[in-house]
Formats: sequence, structure tokens, C-alpha cells
Amino acid sequence: MSVQPEAHSVQPEVLKANEAYAASFGDKGSLALPPARRFAILTCMDARLDPAKYAGLAEGDAHVIRNAGGRASDDAIRSLVISYKLLGTREFFVVHHTDCGMQLFDDEIMSDLLDKSLETATIDAQGWHDHGHGPGSVHGHFVKWHTFKDLAASVVEDVKRIRSHPLVPAGIPIYGYYYDVKTGRLVEVPEATAIGRASA
Ligand SMILES: [Zn+2]
Repeated sequence: MSVQPEAHSVQPEVLKANEAYAASFGDKGSLALPPARRFAILTCMDARLDPAKYAGLAEGDAHVIRNAGGRASDDAIRSLVISYKLLGTREFFVVHHTDCGMQLFDDEIMSDLLDKSLETATIDAQGWHDHGHGPGSVHGHFVKWHTFKDLAASVVEDVKRIRSHPLVPAGIPIYGYYYDVKTGRLVEVPEATAIGRASA
């Protein structure tokens, strides 16, 4: 199996943008390591979501933990525990979003696609299609992909999991929200926030 060379790589653009960013870096080199506003956001990697913008963050303000779906996976919880235990955060937000790609497949679809090839699949009204050249890999069958069907229910589930985790103290409130990709608004999931309420 060969990896196709990219006809157009974004690498030069990224480095050029970074030059401009570093040129106007100002005094941010003196920021402290612990987040100044003492909170963490667990959210999806979706390219339309910019937590710095939707939650008003500047460099140094907060921890942002991102993965596909913004799910409370073991690794997300690892980061949250480091966030409060070593770096002093005191509030957590779980923010999923509308039109999430994690609602478009399930473990069986994903592992079947990976069985066929490792190239990019496409989706249409009939579902997912693989167009790649094999061989694929069986390894996808051994991964839990953390997909979901119901958006609000997924926020509740993740807040519930973090709330009940033995390494997360009861005094940290966990707020459950989803981000609306059509409006940019954060919409609370009251059931999640209720479950995430801090207790002494
Ligand atoms: Zn998403």
C-alpha cells in the first residue's frame, strides 16, 4: 500500500501563518503554565468549532481537550484529571455539537470500511462507500469509536461518566452543552448539567 503524495500541501501556508503569529507574539512568552481562568473544555475536533472564539478564550486562559465527538474517553479523562490535579482547574465543560460526524457511522460501518482499504471513504444518501485499493486492516474491529445517535443523550452520558469517575472530585461542577453549528450558540443540556452539579 502506498501513500499518495499530496498535490498541494498546506505545510508552507501553516509555516507562513506561524511566522506572522510569532512576529506579533507580544508578551505571551511570560504566561504561566496553569490556566489563568481555571477551567477546562472537552469538545469535538470538528473544524467548524473554535473553542477560543465560542468561549472567549485567550492564550493561557483554559485547557481545551479535543477528540472526535468531544467524548469522555479514557484519554480525555486522563487530561481532565491532570488539568485539575496538577494545574488547578475547578470547572469542566462538555461541549458536543449539532451535525456531528460521529452521528454518521457506527463501529460496524467504520470497521467494515477499514477492512476494505485505508483510503478516504465517501458518504451519500445510500450510506458510506469505500473506493480505495486494499488491503485494509482488521484493527478497526478492535477499536471503540465512541459514535452516538442522540446529541443530548451523548452529552448526558459523557457528563455522567466524568461525574462518576473515581479520579474526579465531587466538588468540580461539570456543565453539559452542545454547540449549534448554524448559529454559533452554546445550548445547555439541563439534564447533563444537573448530573454534573458539584457536591461538597
Ligand atoms: Zn463532531
